[in-house]
Amino acid sequence: MGKKGILAVVSGFSGSGKGTLMKELMSRYPQTYALSVSATTRSPREGEEEGREYFFKTKEDFEKMIAKDELIEYAKYVENYYGTPRAYVEKKLDEGMDVILEIEIQGALKVRERFPDTLLLFVTPPTAEELRARLIGRGTETMDVIKSRLDRACEEAKGMGAYDYLIVNDDLNDCVEKMHAIIQGEHQRSSRNEEFMRKIKEDLNSLKGED
Ligand code: ADP
Ligand code: 5GP
Repeated sequence: MGKKGILAVVSGFSGSGKGTLMKELMSRYPQTYALSVSATTRSPREGEEEGREYFFKTKEDFEKMIAKDELIEYAKYVENYYGTPRAYVEKKLDEGMDVILEIEIQGALKVRERFPDTLLLFVTPPTAEELRARLIGRGTETMDVIKSRLDRACEEAKGMGAYDYLIVNDDLNDCVEKMHAIIQGEHQRSSRNEEFMRKIKEDLNSLKGED
């Protein structure tokens, strides 16, 4: 069987640019990455499509998915449920693709508990002021919702240290390439190459025995 892909979680404050970053990463490296599409009970934003940004669910349907254990993890974020459907993630990892979950911190920690070799990446804008400016500039939420997302960012900031890498999204292009380099570098980690190490040790031993 071929090598399994890496499961990478990308979190970051709302408005830090995760969505923009993911779109760019997928379009540059479509053969390498698969982006998991989450289920949510929040309403679609203008321009969002069912099955592309999210699978939009009623609360009842979402709770059914939980009961049937169809989600790897789920969390409540500012009054709505968000969760990661299991089947797609497992299939793509088995196909050897690196799978990215763009999820918030509670979900990230649950995924790592369940799959300890998950790579955790945290995306942040260069400054707090810039975060507020991006949220306002996106123009998709009311000032009340923006305020609750900034409050939530204060909470999430406490958990940044649990992540493996911090990625500052200043220049978008640089940021996409940094993320790609980190995930691809991770493939070289010795603990992810047990099978290779076992094989070359065995082959070296048989060479030694040959003469
Ligand atoms: P998130 O998915 O983290 O909530 P978005 O991808 O929706 O964030 O980005 C929030 C806003 O910031 C959007 O209007 C987006 O165009 C803008 N943005 C994203 N990355 C950058 C960047 N590197 N520089 C300037 N603006 C950015
Ligand atoms: P938004 O409403 O801006 O699309 O997403 C709000 C937050 O929910 C973001 O921090 C996003 O990363 C997170 N999120 C999206 N999908 C999931 C998911 O499947 N599980 C969890 N735990 N969080 C998610």
